Amino acid sequence: MILQIRPFVAPGFGENGYIVWRDGAATAVAIDPGNSVAPMLELLADEGLRIAAVLLTHAHLDHVEGVARLVRETSAPVYLHPADRFLYDHVAQQAQQFGMRVDSPPPVSKSLEHDLHIDIGDVTYHVLHAPGHSPGHVMFHVADAECAFVGDVIFQGSIGRSDLPGGDFMQLIESIRAQVLTLPDETTLYPGHGPPTTVGHERATNPFLIPHYGGGLA
Ligand SMILES: [Zn+2]
Ligand SMILES: [Zn+2]
Repeated sequence: MILQIRPFVAPGFGENGYIVWRDGAATAVAIDPGNSVAPMLELLADEGLRIAAVLLTHAHLDHVEGVARLVRETSAPVYLHPADRFLYDHVAQQAQQFGMRVDSPPPVSKSLEHDLHIDIGDVTYHVLHAPGHSPGHVMFHVADAECAFVGDVIFQGSIGRSDLPGGDFMQLIESIRAQVLTLPDETTLYPGHGPPTTVGHERATNPFLIPHYGGGLA
């Protein structure tokens, strides 16, 4: 199948948000809308798409700051793993630490859990729990399109921070080993920051995953 994937790099924190839909379908999802809501709404109007869900990989400020506005405009339900609720419910306080004001997001509509399959717009998103960057971090794997939206678990040549509240380095490495490196090498990874990469490329070249940096753990 052809999956349409439109990345949006936000001003400010520079995080990636994505609008994703099956080619020809009228229903899309927004993944980590962050601070890209205005251009996302433009795309939806241009393409005649309806947002059926806001899928959150995790609830750090940079990935959720626009959720309130997006839901106000589209009434889409919000999907989040419950272990990140302590972050989601305190988005306003997260923002204060950066001297920003952010509207509190609406209640979570659906709690994500590991191994859940979500069918939206003729696309199946497989939820993979990958804690370590945050406790409730999940990835969304679309097997039919050989891709995964991995948030801040792994980046091209790097991995997510584990020094933020609820972060855990060993848990992050274990998540990468169990949830990322078990995907086929040709799987394209769409991260929360920076350009897309592939499982095979990171397996071979990511300095955190090769032995001399202790990557033998992964
Ligand atoms: Zn994060
Ligand atoms: Zn981030």
